[in-house]
Amino acid sequence: MLQEVPVKEKRLKDYAAVAGEDVVDEILQSVRPLKGARVLHVNATAFGGGVAELLATLVPLMRDAGLDAHWQVIEGAPEFFQVTKAFHNGLQGMDVSLTQRDFDTFLHYNRLNAERLSTDWDFIILHDPQPAAMARLVQEREQRPAGAAAGKPRWIWRCHIDLSSPNPVVRDFLRPWLEAYDAGIFTLRRYAGTGLQLPIIAEIPPSIDPLSPKNAAMSEEEARGIVGRLGVDTGRPLITQVSRFDPWKDPLGVIDAFRLVRERVPGVQLAMVGSLAHDDPEGQLYYDKTKDHAGGDPDIHLYTNLDGVADREVNAFQRVSQVILQKSLREGFGLTVSEALWKGTPVVGGNAGGIPIQIDDGVCGYLVESVQEAAERATYLLQHPGEAAEMGRAGQEKVRRRFLSTRNLLDYLHLFQRLA
Ligand code: UDP
Repeated sequence: MLQEVPVKEKRLKDYAAVAGEDVVDEILQSVRPLKGARVLHVNATAFGGGVAELLATLVPLMRDAGLDAHWQVIEGAPEFFQVTKAFHNGLQGMDVSLTQRDFDTFLHYNRLNAERLSTDWDFIILHDPQPAAMARLVQEREQRPAGAAAGKPRWIWRCHIDLSSPNPVVRDFLRPWLEAYDAGIFTLRRYAGTGLQLPIIAEIPPSIDPLSPKNAAMSEEEARGIVGRLGVDTGRPLITQVSRFDPWKDPLGVIDAFRLVRERVPGVQLAMVGSLAHDDPEGQLYYDKTKDHAGGDPDIHLYTNLDGVADREVNAFQRVSQVILQKSLREGFGLTVSEALWKGTPVVGGNAGGIPIQIDDGVCGYLVESVQEAAERATYLLQHPGEAAEMGRAGQEKVRRRFLSTRNLLDYLHLFQRLA
């Protein structure tokens, strides 16, 4: 068996107060024909990044709704994660160089993990490219292709990234492995691109957990205390970006934008909060680059999980900041945007990937295309606190309707019904 990730218990009824009774009722209705179904989620890491974050809520909520849901992680050596990182970048369109040896490494580790994957499930959902070949490898092992005639399990590939303009080398390599699935889930329908043949392509945006330590209510006093203890002067304005240190999140551009804002808003501070995930070997490198770019500026604060900045601290930063930046150049969805809006903080976000479905431009923040524009919008929000607060409230309401875990669960149940 693959390694099981233990999850905390969560109760759907606790979500009714924040997400609405109606959505919880709809979940209980929709799950009826699926009661007891065995559901397995498989991904590459139990900690760090958006996918782990999502599963930590989705799996226990599926359980509470009456499914026998589990989460397991694959294992691989650093050489494997280097290849899958290149796949990830390549699928998002980056020019990556991959050799036959890299493809062999990818398949080698997928095979090792596939050998340990049990098929005693109704639905197996594999997340992202790392475990993507496992479906066909298992089907070959069991001499049972996908499709209704093959019975259980149904194979679902949940892709959290945008495949609409992929590097052709990675796309062509992966395609036969992906077409072994019964269904694909994409954050937006257009992320599936053209050419990928799957019986069902479902559009399901991800979501945030409104009751997790990262998103739950927190008093202003507590939030200020946390941020203050981390060295930020809470008497002065603060801009924050919460993101892995990754070129697509443009941390260097964030610093450049901050420097422009400071010309107009003296005293403003910048916090950059970024955990280092173990499947992200570039993280440390990019953290170092960011630190160099900050050049010892006392008003630029860099934090990682190694500084003890975890969920509650992220929660506090998203509340205390007057503006949250999410200056991504490419983005799958960008959970950090919904997280910040949920706390009533307006977000200035790159006009990329899933960010525009979260930020209605000029309503709950701004969409920007450049460092200059990011700086102008952030400056405007800092100078117009009344409007900023209004935008924050609009953002919170939008997230309540569209981007909470309960809606995500409901979308999964609808897909399972289609596949059952
Ligand atoms: N995150 C965190 N600590 C950090 C940086 C990020 O907990 O220092 C979380 C962040 O709050 C969000 C997730 O990691 O829940 C990142 O998801 P997102 O979709 O924004 O980006 P990804 O990392 O998946 O590209």
